[in-house]
Amino acid sequence: MMSDSVLKIDGLCHAYKNHEILKNIDLDLRAGERTAVLGESGSGKSTLLRCIAGLEMIKRGKILLNGRIVSDHVMTVPTEDRNLGMVLQERALFPHLTVIDNIMFGIDKVSSKHRIVADLTKLFKITSILDKFPSEISGGEQQRVAFARSLAPEPELLMLDEPFSALNQELKEELYAELLSIFDERNVAVLLVTHDLTEANRLTSSQAKLDGGELTKT
Ligand code: ADP
Ligand code: MG
Repeated sequence: MMSDSVLKIDGLCHAYKNHEILKNIDLDLRAGERTAVLGESGSGKSTLLRCIAGLEMIKRGKILLNGRIVSDHVMTVPTEDRNLGMVLQERALFPHLTVIDNIMFGIDKVSSKHRIVADLTKLFKITSILDKFPSEISGGEQQRVAFARSLAPEPELLMLDEPFSALNQELKEELYAELLSIFDERNVAVLLVTHDLTEANRLTSSQAKLDGGELTKT
C-alpha cells in the first residue's frame, strides 16, 4: 500500500557546523492528525520545523510530504513547492500589506480566492479589520490573521512554532477552541512545537519530547 502519511520523517539528522541539533528523528503524521513536539528552549524545535519547511539542508535521512521525498542529504525541494502552512510566535505578517492582502498573498488559485478569504475571515472573526494594517490591530488579532493566512493556500500540513506565547491566557483559550473546530473541519494535519504541556494537551492528541537532539514519544 502507498503511504497515506502527510508527513514522514525517516532518520533525520541535522547539525549547525559540527553541533548536532537533531539526531536520527523519526516522525509520522497522517491526514487530520495533530501532534506536538515538546522541548525546552534551544532543544531544536524550530530547527525541526525549518528542516520540514525546506529552509535547512539536512545532513542525513529523509523527509517525505504525501509520500514524495522533499529533503534528503543531496536535495531540498523549495518551501513554496511543499504545500504547507506555518505560524510563528510573532512578526509573521507583512507590515506594508493590509489584513486582506496578507491573507491573499499565498493563494494562487485566482478562481477560488474570494471564497477562501471570505470563509477564513468569517471563521477567525476578522471581517471588520480587513482593511487595517498589522500595526493597527491587537496582538490577538494579528495571530488570528496569521492563522487565516497560513490556511488560505489550503495546506495539508500546518506547522505551529509556539504561536501562542505572546498572547494572554484568555486570548489563548479563545483561540484554542476556535482552532480545534477549524482544524477538524479542514482535516488538516497539525505539527505544534511548544514548551507548554497544557497547550500541547489542549490542541493535540499525541506528543513527543525533543531532548538532547532525540525525539521520544511520550
Ligand atoms: P528551539 O526552537 O527549541 O528553542 P532552535 O531550533 O531554535 O531551538 O535552536 C536549537 C539550537 O540550535 C540552539 O542551540 C541554537 O542556538 C542553535 N541554532 C539555531 N539556529 C542556528 C543557526 N542558524 N546557526 C547556528 N546555530 C543555530
Ligand atoms: Mg524555537
